[in-house]
Amino acid sequence: MTEELAFRGFEYAAAPESRAIVSLEDAYGHYVGGRWLEPSETYTTISPASEEPLAAVGQASAADVDAAVAAARSAFDSEWSALRPAERAKYLFRIARLLQERAREFAVLESLDGGKPIKESRDVDLPLAAAHFFYYAGWADKLEYAFPNRRPRPRGVAGQIIPWNFPLLMLAWKIAPALAAGNTVVLKPAETTPLTALLFCDVLRQAELPPGVVNIVTGDGRTGAALVEHDGVDKFAFTGSTEVGKAIQRELAGKGKGLTLELGGKAANIVFDDAPLDQAVEGIVNGIYFNQGHVCCAGSRLLVQESIEQPLVEKLKRRLSTLRVGDPLDKNTDVGAINSAAQLQKIEELVAAGEQEGAEIYQPPCRLPERGYWFVPTVFTGVAQSHRIAQEEIFGPVLSVLTFRTPEEAVEKANNTAYGLSAGIWTEKGSRILWMAQRMRAGVVWANTFNRFDPTSPFGGYKESGFGREGGLHGLEPYLRFDEDGGA
Ligand code: NDP
Repeated sequence: MTEELAFRGFEYAAAPESRAIVSLEDAYGHYVGGRWLEPSETYTTISPASEEPLAAVGQASAADVDAAVAAARSAFDSEWSALRPAERAKYLFRIARLLQERAREFAVLESLDGGKPIKESRDVDLPLAAAHFFYYAGWADKLEYAFPNRRPRPRGVAGQIIPWNFPLLMLAWKIAPALAAGNTVVLKPAETTPLTALLFCDVLRQAELPPGVVNIVTGDGRTGAALVEHDGVDKFAFTGSTEVGKAIQRELAGKGKGLTLELGGKAANIVFDDAPLDQAVEGIVNGIYFNQGHVCCAGSRLLVQESIEQPLVEKLKRRLSTLRVGDPLDKNTDVGAINSAAQLQKIEELVAAGEQEGAEIYQPPCRLPERGYWFVPTVFTGVAQSHRIAQEEIFGPVLSVLTFRTPEEAVEKANNTAYGLSAGIWTEKGSRILWMAQRMRAGVVWANTFNRFDPTSPFGGYKESGFGREGGLHGLEPYLRFDEDGGA
């Protein structure tokens, strides 16, 4: 057996998850005031793995956004803000349980519309989305204890814009704390991944959530911009690119509205020479190839101590050749489809820049499907700090490897970025973990693990990665007003 074959092991038989559990409508409207609003304009959402059209979806106009904000305002004033907190909690618990009951249906739809492997939507996105609703349901009637002596009150109508990398999970991150705090919501999912948000409307119906408490309008950036420009929204929460985040901040400047921004990242995953290498390799793979690298906190820069660069990179390359790229609905798939043609183009452009600037590229032998958007898991070695692939967010399955000699140099290089969302540290010394963590300008620092999420843990960035936190008690705060803010 050749060495290459020995690495690859045996072939896996296809193990596709059945699509039969999902029944798609031909066309969807906007979910406003508990009813479906006929869209004036539509577009088609496709499966990025096959380019197959899935459904027609509404492109919300400024008038549609206005109707959604009016429904949210009316629900806030008439019912939701005055509801006993324990009653609010019951709705959130119901939503959480319904998501668990319908988890398989949601997971299949998420993989179909977004391209992520079913094992990730099934084992990560869905359990975490339900956990967020459970977690914030628990806080709904304890806000006075969470923020003692500060008289927490809801802000009003929350406008929320989410991206395409974790569509349902980002919806949960946004909607659960907003409702727990007593706000009503208008949410816009990303253009390429609207379907789980639209299916979520059926969960709201099952949970008998009062009409207008959650409204969902679909469409592209124009719909997002109309929501941001709407005067009737009291608080905004945005997850997406730094560029759009900056535009939103400019638009809202001086208007006295609440704003949280969760933007891009270029995280350093730092491996010291005393780290258990095989474990670190799994962490590196999970850090950058999880969800095709479409992860804002992805460990896209590997900083490895110079003395172990060679053995670590060798192990990593060997591991890469065992990653299975292909059908997102196949339970064996490790790396699914790139979310859109536009994102694929962006990845290709940055990878070409990496080669041009002189970094050395490695891609394992890999058969890609003929249709759809795909990119082979890629590693660049010999990367310099100044290279674009070391500075810019690629948001794809592409790792840049840099080296360091001392902990001080690792800190310097890790923080040499415009972003500051996350970092990873691999070492067997607890004291070194603490020393490093104190010096990382990053909102989340993982030690001997990567890409772990929990609803109780705050998540958010420094610098161009944004501001405000989601998750935990910190995640409730932006959805509340307090005595010290002034006003009734
Ligand atoms: P965007 O920031 O454009 O998308 C995020 C959300 O904002 C989407 O719902 C989008 O709608 C909406 N939006 C777009 N323009 C506006 C606007 N002017 N006002 C209000 N809302 C708007 O990200 P992209 O999808 O364009 O991805 C580009 C890059 O951003 C990626 O390559 C990646 O580097 C980064 N990114 C980072 C994410 C993160 O989690 N930090 C998530 C997604 C992307 P629509 O879907 O129609 O564009």
